[in-house]
Amino acid sequence: MVEKKILIVDDEEFICDILGEALTNKGYEVRIATNAEEGLDILKKEDIPVIFLDLNLPGMNGIELCKHIREKKSRAVIYAVTGYSSLFGVSECKKVGFNDFFTKPVKLKVIFKAAKDAFDNINQSI
Ligand SMILES: [Mg+2]
Repeated sequence: MVEKKILIVDDEEFICDILGEALTNKGYEVRIATNAEEGLDILKKEDIPVIFLDLNLPGMNGIELCKHIREKKSRAVIYAVTGYSSLFGVSECKKVGFNDFFTKPVKLKVIFKAAKDAFDNINQSI
């Protein structure tokens, strides 16, 4: 079993707060970053297998960030969560290595299922 750690990267703090609190209540250990660089820093220090990325971030966007993470972590489950689906299409997301794509406002139920499925898949593949 891998540790149930999740990283959330979103520049909107209330999104981080809502997702962070909800996932913590579900028993996950949650790390939060409000920009790409912070997210990469956390991933250098900790092995986090499941990652939710906002695509529209200041500085490095979520597409670039996903590419960077994928270079190092081929087996992580990385989800895009974005309100700007028109800027980046699903095919672009798949191309850079996102496992799936959710459009804001996203229901917590959907996030919970995504997190559970991710850990189920990771644990099955070990
Ligand atoms: Mg954003």
